[in-house]
Formats: sequence, C-alpha cells, structure tokens
Amino acid sequence: MPQKTREDRRKKAIEVLNKARAMELHAIHQYMNQHYNLDDRDYGELAGKVKLIAIDEMRHAEAFAERVKELGGEPATSYEGKVEKGQPVQTIFSFDSELEDDTIDVYNQFLLTCRDNGDSISVKLFETIIDEEQIHYNYFDNVNEHIQKLGDIYLAQIAGTPSSTGLTPKGFAVGGAA
Ligand code: FE
Ligand code: FE
Repeated sequence: MPQKTREDRRKKAIEVLNKARAMELHAIHQYMNQHYNLDDRDYGELAGKVKLIAIDEMRHAEAFAERVKELGGEPATSYEGKVEKGQPVQTIFSFDSELEDDTIDVYNQFLLTCRDNGDSISVKLFETIIDEEQIHYNYFDNVNEHIQKLGDIYLAQIAGTPSSTGLTPKGFAVGGAA
C-alpha cells in the first residue's frame, strides 16, 4: 500500500471534522425547533435546558470550523439530515437521546480517523466534545425515562415552570446547568 502523503492525511482529518460540523448544524436546528415548541407549550424548564444544549452544539460547530480552518479547509455550511418539526413532548427526549448516542458513536470513529492520520489536536477536540455529548445524552435519557415512567405526573410538574436562561447563557455542559 502506498504511503499516504501529508496532504492526504490532512484532507482526511478535514473531511471528518466537516462531517461532524454538519451534524452539529443539524443538532442546532433540531434543538432550537424543540426549544421554541416546548416553550410554546409552556414546558419552561425543558425548553430552557434544550436551549442551553443547542448553545453547546453551536460552540461545537464553531470549534470544528476553527480546526478545519487551521488545517486549511473550508468549513461546511449545510447541515446533515432532516429537522423534525413539531414533535410531541413524549417523543422529543427519546429522539434526542438516540441522536446523542449516535453522535458519540460516530465521533469516536472520527476520532480514530484523526488518530490514524496523525492529527492529535483533532483527536483531543473530539475527546472534549464527546464528553459533552455524553452529558447531553445523560440529560435527555433521564428526562425520557421520567416521561415514560411517570408520564403526565412528571409533565404536570414541568408545566408553567420558567424557561429563562439568563441574559448571557454559556450553555448546558459548561454553564453549570448539567
Ligand atoms: Fe455537539
Ligand atoms: Fe449534543
């Protein structure tokens, strides 16, 4: 097998970083849609948390773009997949925990690609972001379990709670909300 050139290895890293960025852009749109629908249905606390998680994903999308730029690539601007609109509260959290679970799996594969191509900085970036996706997964999975087990009793406790996240929200995983 011919040795991969430095250029080939760089391109491989850019490719997976951009795929990850497109997944983040999808998550941002998906979670924003859920955030304002949950807010509209007055499930304030859930709306606020989903909004903070969307802000985490924005930070991830930026971080991937910055690394793509450092490697001399062009950051992706369109998102991967499809945004589900108007999901009922009963399906949002199982949907999101699956999304995070898939993301963790895919990012672990991307991390290995970066390692195979000698890009330790991108490996570290994926490690940091995977940790945050795990925090997202844990939150979504917990809420999903409450909804599945307690149903309306749980939702009645959430109804009417405030959705405020303050004037300068930092995010969920880093802002102290997790
Ligand atoms: Fe993310
Ligand atoms: Fe996430």
